Amino acid sequence: MPIEHAMNTISERHRADILIIGGGAAGLLAALAARRKARERSIVDSDFRIVVLERNARPGAKIRISGGGKCNVTHDGAVGEMLVQGFFRKSEQRFLRPALYAFTNDDLRRMLRKRSVPTAVRDDGKVFPVSGRACDVLAAIEAELRDASVDVVTGTRVRSCLRQNGVFCIHTKMSDFFSSRLVLATGGVSYRHTGTTGDGLHIAASFGHDLVPSSPSLAPFFLRHPVAAALSGVALRDVQLSFRTPSETVSRKGDVLLTHKGLSGPACFSLSRDAADLMRRESGGEALVNFFPDFSAEDMQEMLLRHASAHGKQLIRKFLQLQSAIPSGMIPLVLKQAAIEGDIGWGSLTKNARCRLQRTLQSFSFGEVKAIPLDAGEVSAGGIALGQVNAKTMESRICRDLFLCGEILDYAGEVGGFNLQAAFSTGWLAGSSSASGSAGTGV
Ligand SMILES: Cc1cc2nc3c(=O)[nH]c(=O)nc-3n(C[C@H](O)[C@H](O)[C@H](O)COP(=O)(O)OP(=O)(O)OC[C@H]3O[C@@H](n4cnc5c(N)ncnc54)[C@H](O)[C@@H]3O)c2cc1C
Repeated sequence: MPIEHAMNTISERHRADILIIGGGAAGLLAALAARRKARERSIVDSDFRIVVLERNARPGAKIRISGGGKCNVTHDGAVGEMLVQGFFRKSEQRFLRPALYAFTNDDLRRMLRKRSVPTAVRDDGKVFPVSGRACDVLAAIEAELRDASVDVVTGTRVRSCLRQNGVFCIHTKMSDFFSSRLVLATGGVSYRHTGTTGDGLHIAASFGHDLVPSSPSLAPFFLRHPVAAALSGVALRDVQLSFRTPSETVSRKGDVLLTHKGLSGPACFSLSRDAADLMRRESGGEALVNFFPDFSAEDMQEMLLRHASAHGKQLIRKFLQLQSAIPSGMIPLVLKQAAIEGDIGWGSLTKNARCRLQRTLQSFSFGEVKAIPLDAGEVSAGGIALGQVNAKTMESRICRDLFLCGEILDYAGEVGGFNLQAAFSTGWLAGSSSASGSAGTGV
């Protein structure tokens, strides 16, 4: 049907001045910012319809499961600090800067406080609601949406979009929606059961956007030969985890958790994006742990030599038991990999055996990494190429009046509240920009 004809026959319910696809952190904040901007422009709410289309029965699925249900909403600190700590790639830091200034961590905390959801900063800078309940964060945002007269249409999956005569036509199974401005906020592609199956990426591609292939981030490692089930749940504290291929090694310091399928925990999550990139290029790699990351190989050799001279009678097993860095369950594995009998003393240890022990303690191999699963990542990297989005407005450089925000974009932050803050901030900037200027005149 020609679009002009369609426009004459559609009900008011299917018209929007701004239509947002995806009711996650980015999409919901885009709706709030759009209303704020429209009101600043003295446009009455009834003359400016803001609609969010969400495929799930309730918006904010990922907000509810974030931080293990406690929701690490953001990170403390100035914008510059957040960018350096939360986003390791310079291109991402540059891209996110205007958005993080447009809607800061303080703005977010103020909004939540206004809705009786106070937040607190932990020693490591992570910010959580004091109640410890992610659902309180979502309830606060939903209350804001009600006050902002935003129409959140749930259970409505967008299939495709096209643009004719400056109007976006958004197809869903039941009906079509029409809007002069469109915000695409459908998230990444991990945890697909929450609704993030990459629909928005297909829509962006249909408007001519380049997509950086999706890849895992903040994801566990699945090992070809996982450690014994009895060790599942054991934490390796303050170690260095490396992923090694014949040509390159990438590493992170932090805690590692042993699981029944492989490795998890903060260091593993942080390393997963680089490791997955390397794995894709070289089709395979090995996971290694350095239990003494603050010692160089030479210092470690010297330390063991001095120890051997001073404690000739001490059993190697006893020495390992005294090292807080090595959980007791790991000791038999360390001894086996170093090919050393635990019941011999330092005095009987040959130089070769001492060198093997040093190597094992500083590069204990967990063997081949079978997979770094995309779906199990807390976020996915890749998505719409950042170069095709104006960082100051979140408007597409390819298609006018199309705004893009949140995890659908090609960035991925570290653990610590950075991903939600990036989604909130880019969403806010997209919504605010979409409602400025000549918005609302097309439909
Ligand atoms: C287990 C887990 C724990 C996490 N914990 C934290 C944490 O503590 N702190 C932190 O900062 N980050 C955390 N994250 C990451 C963070 O939740 C996300 O980065 C963030 O929610 C992304 O927001 P978004 O709005 O871009 O996408 P999403 O929140 O994924 O929202 C996208 C929305 O679009 C909808 N949608 C998709 N396709 C369609 C369609 N075709 N039609 C209509 N609707 C559609 C989806 O249903 C979804 O509701 C966690 C993620 C996971 C999976």
